[in-house]
Amino acid sequence: MSVVDSLSQIRPVWISRVSHQLARGAVLRESFLAQLNRFFDAVIQAVASGDPSWMDPILNEWVEARTQTELSLNEASLYPILSEILQITQEVLKETNQADGLEIWGAMLPIFSRAYEQSARREIEMRVVHVQRELQLAQFSLERLDRSKSDFISIAAHELKTPLTLIEGYAAMIRDMLPKEQESMGQVLVKGIDNGTKRLREIIDDMIDVSLIDNNLLTLTFQPLWLNRLLSTLREELKEIVAQRKQNLIMHNFEGCEELTFGDSERIYQALRNLLTNAIKYTPDGGQVTVDGRKLPGFIEIIIEDTGIGIDPDDHAVIFEKFGRLGNVSLHSSGKTKFKGGGPGLGLPITKGLIEAHGGTIWVESDGYDEVKCPGTTFHVLLPMRKEPPDDKIAKLFSPLTDGKQR
Ligand code: ADP
Repeated sequence: MSVVDSLSQIRPVWISRVSHQLARGAVLRESFLAQLNRFFDAVIQAVASGDPSWMDPILNEWVEARTQTELSLNEASLYPILSEILQITQEVLKETNQADGLEIWGAMLPIFSRAYEQSARREIEMRVVHVQRELQLAQFSLERLDRSKSDFISIAAHELKTPLTLIEGYAAMIRDMLPKEQESMGQVLVKGIDNGTKRLREIIDDMIDVSLIDNNLLTLTFQPLWLNRLLSTLREELKEIVAQRKQNLIMHNFEGCEELTFGDSERIYQALRNLLTNAIKYTPDGGQVTVDGRKLPGFIEIIIEDTGIGIDPDDHAVIFEKFGRLGNVSLHSSGKTKFKGGGPGLGLPITKGLIEAHGGTIWVESDGYDEVKCPGTTFHVLLPMRKEPPDDKIAKLFSPLTDGKQR
């Protein structure tokens, strides 16, 4: 008798044994019987043709029948089921006393070995697809979250602007009504309102900037600029607060800073001011802030180093995200330049957006966060040196400044 005939002979016993062992309950067994018959048909085809790939369709079907829950829990691998079927096959061969039992066993082994391999491969493929889908979903929901954050910022900023303008207007009217000769209580109170509204306007402007950057709506006006001039204006602006904080602000005249480059000077000034006010804010009284830099092929690097509290390496990416402020929010001091006077956490994302809009890049270096040892922080800004603006119109306007040629 051929192996195929012997297999056909053990078929009823095999089907009954496997179905009873693997499918508990009559209803389940009923539907499983059809599957087992197909499995056995495939085994016979594989043995008859010597091609174990006959098993692939039924195995793939079994693997693909796994539910999403089983996939996410990494459960229900086909491996234990195939092992049990193989074991039952061996028992059935013994029990039915097949004369060619060994021969049948010999024919079955390569088929099962292929079945293990095929089901494992298909299971991995399924898992990869599942994980990819999960990642995609996570990315979609993150993007949606980011979008609603961005929409909220933009709406809130515009909604806050109107009442703020009203407060500013009324404060100005009260100021005008107060006697100017001597400083009255009224003047002190109005000054308090002015300080508050000024800070609120800065926050609203930051919110608008961050939503412009988020929505790719930021427009730059490229003009000729000299970094050393921007930096000395900045030093003048910060002189008072540096003195208040008893800090030492050192600005080096580094190579390339006196060279002309094209950029949006207001925006570059804003970015550098954010970095410098942060350096002052997160450095204790008496500390030092240094501005240095170097010329690189096609770029200029500006380095802002402080002797402050530092930033944990794990947070080096977080601080460039919207609202990526660190530490306990309730402990933040409210002043813009007071020690650790944290703001809404928009300064660095705006700075990054502004620098990247110029084709530059920004990164931070710090050994860690330690308010006692103060390991310090260094921000690096790499800006392209532009001998002409990217925009044609402005290029025409400023061409005599750059190369003297008429365009
Ligand atoms: P904030 O308005 O809170 O200052 P930023 O976006 O400017 O927001 O900065 C985000 C966070 O990065 C800050 O809350 C602070 O924790 C940290 N940070 C920024 N600059 C420095 C620095 N020079 N030294 C230490 N920490 C800093």
